[in-house]
Order: sequence, then C-alpha cells, then structure tokens
Amino acid sequence: MSASDRSPGGPRVHRATVTRIHEHLPGTRSLFLRLPAGERLAFTPGQFVSCALPVGDDPPLVRAYSLASSPEDDELELCVDRVAAGPGSGHLFTLAPGAEVEFTGPFGSFALAEPPPAPLVFVGEGAGVAPLRPMVRRALERGGSQPITILHGARYEQELIYRDDFEAWAARHPRLTWEPVLRTTEAEVGSIDALEGLVLERFVRADADRSRRFWICAVGALPGRLRDALRAAGYERKAVRVEQW
Ligand SMILES: Cc1cc2nc3c(=O)[nH]c(=O)nc-3n(C[C@H](O)[C@H](O)[C@H](O)COP(=O)(O)OP(=O)(O)OC[C@H]3O[C@@H](n4cnc5c(N)ncnc54)[C@H](O)[C@@H]3O)c2cc1C
Repeated sequence: MSASDRSPGGPRVHRATVTRIHEHLPGTRSLFLRLPAGERLAFTPGQFVSCALPVGDDPPLVRAYSLASSPEDDELELCVDRVAAGPGSGHLFTLAPGAEVEFTGPFGSFALAEPPPAPLVFVGEGAGVAPLRPMVRRALERGGSQPITILHGARYEQELIYRDDFEAWAARHPRLTWEPVLRTTEAEVGSIDALEGLVLERFVRADADRSRRFWICAVGALPGRLRDALRAAGYERKAVRVEQW
C-alpha cells in the first residue's frame, strides 16, 4: 500500500471499478464494484462506505452509501437513489462500467454480525432496505429459530426493490416474513405514514413483548421517530438501531 492510499491520518482509501449497473427502476440503480485482484473488503452486514466523488473543484464530495451486498459476495453493491439536484447521487448516475469509485470504510454500527436469539424486525423504506438485505441474509445463514420480519415501505409496488430476493428467501425459510407496506395516499407523506403506523400498532400497542430487536433505515425523520417511540414504549436502548439517510 502506498502513502497515497491513506488520507492523512485517516482510513485506507480503496479504489474499485464499476463492473455493471442494474436499474431497479428509473432513479434507483445498483452499481456493482470490483476491488483490485487480491483485495477484499472485510465488513459487517449493514455497514456503509464513504465515497469521495470528484464533483466540482477540490476537495471531493464525500457521501455515504450502504453496502447492499454481503461480505461473502465477490463484488460490492451500492444501491443508489438519484436525489433531485443532488451532486453526489447525480455523479454516481453518470458512471458506466469501467469507471473508478474511490471510498474509505467500512464504517458504522448499524450492522448485524451475529443474530441475537430474539425476534428480529427489519424496517426499511424505499432504498433503505439496501443495508437490511445483507443483515437478513446473515441472520438466515446463521440458522436459529427466531422469527424474522421485514417491513418494506414504498410509495408503490415498483419501488419494492429486492422483492424477488425477499420473496425467494421467505419461501425457503418459513420463519422469515417479508411484508410490503405501501403508502395509501399522497397525503400520508410527511405525517404518520402507513409504515410508521404499522410498526407502532404491531410492536407497541398489540402486545407487551419487548424482547424484539429492530433495525430501521429510511430517509428523513422516520427512523428517529420510531426509535424514540419504541424506546419510550419499553424496548431497551440497544434493541433499537436506526440509520437516517
Ligand atoms: C450512513 C448512510 C448511508 C447511506 N446509504 C445510502 C445508500 O445506500 N443509497 C442511497 O441512495 N443513499 C444513501 N445515503 C444518502 C447519501 O449519502 C446521500 O445523502 C444522497 O445520495 C444524497 O446526496 P447528494 O449529494 O446527491 O444530494 P444532497 O444535495 O446532499 O441531498 C441531500 C438531501 O437528500 C436527502 N436524501 C438522502 N438520501 C436520499 C435518498 N436515498 N432518497 C431521497 N432523498 C435522499 C437527504 O435527506 C438530504 O435532505 C446514505 C446516507 C448515510 C448517512
């Protein structure tokens, strides 16, 4: 490793090549990245990398992207939403196979190394299911008998990315439930939406079980609101992990 592979006093800089692009839907795509031969990224399912994007003048723009792939996969996958007028996501949407992406990481404690022996609940909205996907896969691969629930919020059916994976896993593992939660009206945007209401109804009001463990990921205020509500309802601090984009 040369000195240029470290930011001053900072973590190692990785350079990966885009091998292919999968368009989930207009405005959401996965970039598959390959590291140089012999290099692997050791990470825990759920973690993210910090991409240094050459947008405008120096210094590069730094944006976080979750790893949608599993540590065992040969390639890294980043699932990216295009944000209107967003410089970082806009840049990633210009990349074609062969382009280079520079990043540091992995980072983050929103992760699952070993599944605890408790019911596991994963809540994701839109592309927020990206970091949940490798966590669910890890939990299934480790075995166990605890129920695993994925509540997958989206505005409409086409936004249910990774649906095929989740349905296939649920068919193979009866303890996994994948449940799409669609917004019913545009008026719900910004208020208590269907996903938030369902989590509170089912895991707070429906019973007194507080043994569940939660991983919640979405854009905006939803993860923080759910974390506060779940903790206030009696779940332990460490039982509720959230990531806000
Ligand atoms: C830990 C972490 C992991 C992340 N992982 C991902 C990921 O896997 N995929 C991904 O697409 N983004 C992810 N993000 C968001 C990403 O880092 C950028 O914020 C996003 O790409 C917008 O950057 P921008 O420069 O295009 O736009 P900016 O001009 O910087 O726009 C910022 C605004 O966009 C909102 N925003 C952020 N993400 C989204 C989104 N996905 N859809 C709609 N609005 C959004 C922010 O809340 C903020 O209001 C993650 C963020 C964090 C903190």
